[in-house]
Amino acid sequence: MPIDREPESAGCPLYPFQRPRLSLPTPLRLVLLGATGSIGQQTIDLIRRHPDRLQLAAVSCQGRVEELAALLAEVAAVQPDAPLPLIAVTDAKARERAAAVPGWAPRLLSAGPRGLVEAVTEAQAPSCLVNGLVGAAGLGPTLAGAERGLRIALANKESLVVGGDLVARAVRRGGAEVLPVDSEHAAIAQCLSGRHGAEVERLVLTASGGPFRTTPAAELAGVTREQVLNHPTWRMGPKITVDSATLMNKGLEVIEAHWLFGLPYDRIDVVVHPGSIVHSLVEFVDGALLAQLGTPDMRIPLQYAIAGEIHWPLAGGRLDLLGMGPLVFEAPDPERFPCLRLAREAGLAGGTAPVILNAANEIAVAALLAGRLRYVDIPGIIADTLARLPRGPVDDLSMALDADARARTEAAVLVDVRAAAGR
Ligand code: MG
Repeated sequence: MPIDREPESAGCPLYPFQRPRLSLPTPLRLVLLGATGSIGQQTIDLIRRHPDRLQLAAVSCQGRVEELAALLAEVAAVQPDAPLPLIAVTDAKARERAAAVPGWAPRLLSAGPRGLVEAVTEAQAPSCLVNGLVGAAGLGPTLAGAERGLRIALANKESLVVGGDLVARAVRRGGAEVLPVDSEHAAIAQCLSGRHGAEVERLVLTASGGPFRTTPAAELAGVTREQVLNHPTWRMGPKITVDSATLMNKGLEVIEAHWLFGLPYDRIDVVVHPGSIVHSLVEFVDGALLAQLGTPDMRIPLQYAIAGEIHWPLAGGRLDLLGMGPLVFEAPDPERFPCLRLAREAGLAGGTAPVILNAANEIAVAALLAGRLRYVDIPGIIADTLARLPRGPVDDLSMALDADARARTEAAVLVDVRAAAGR
């Protein structure tokens, strides 16, 4: 085995194992996208816990204006003198309601995806972008944050699935840094920090296995939306919870790991670990394994990323080593969870393949959440969309968005056909 092996295939990894960290002024001024979602609410919780360290420069929500107002009131209660943040409300109707909130009108940005990018480009002296958006919609703001040279605490894995190469290039141009919020990648980052690429043999992502880990294949056709949304260990938003049930989440995370850490796909493995205690592992070339363990609390990786890879104090649950029981690992079942293979193949194919995969998945998941598609039909929608559309390169954002739009249209037609057949 060569001992001078460098991380290959993705060029310069987004997360260089050895590099100087951005030196940022205190308090850190956050652009928080997706403020009313799961990651957003937990970020607000961190601001309440660290009012001297964190401030809001801009926030966004889709349509939950009243919830956003309540969250901003929580922040104002602990930071009465902090400057007020810019506000993006992407849903046009909800933006009209937002304009009527006292004091908001002068700070309101555009509706739609443009407002999300404006939150990044117009914010006053921002230092950190917390991207808690769902889906491919996160890519544009991630690129804007990269161009502006921000620390990017990235919870939106789809940014890298859809535009990994674009983000890598923008990060290099802008002098930004990408720190993963995804718990598995935050674990790997902690194991890799300060290492050399030649030391690393492989990455091992852990998967909880989701609610259907032990469900026989024959019973999967009858599972309900409520069962899909009942994740055994993590409390997250609905889209990622569905992705966890199909293991598409882990497939997307394999692609995310490839872009972040620069390892080829055959050196990124997945094991099912039902307890969600070991958040992921790195195996080194001498056989040594490093793992990061903890309670399933997203605030730990979120705060670690925002802080620039420093462990700030966080009161909360602690892992009970004596009471946690044995650590169990299993191989994922490719027959019952085909999304994992679909994602790996799309990642390996590159270009528009992961864009199409992701778009078809978003359409299928939305259809399941709307009660129009069965759980077992999700992989078929994705595979058929991938089979029907031509593949090509992704050289810029417009090419990614174009492939994304075409895949959404195609997948929506396929969902309609299945929905009609199921009636
Ligand atoms: Mg994860």
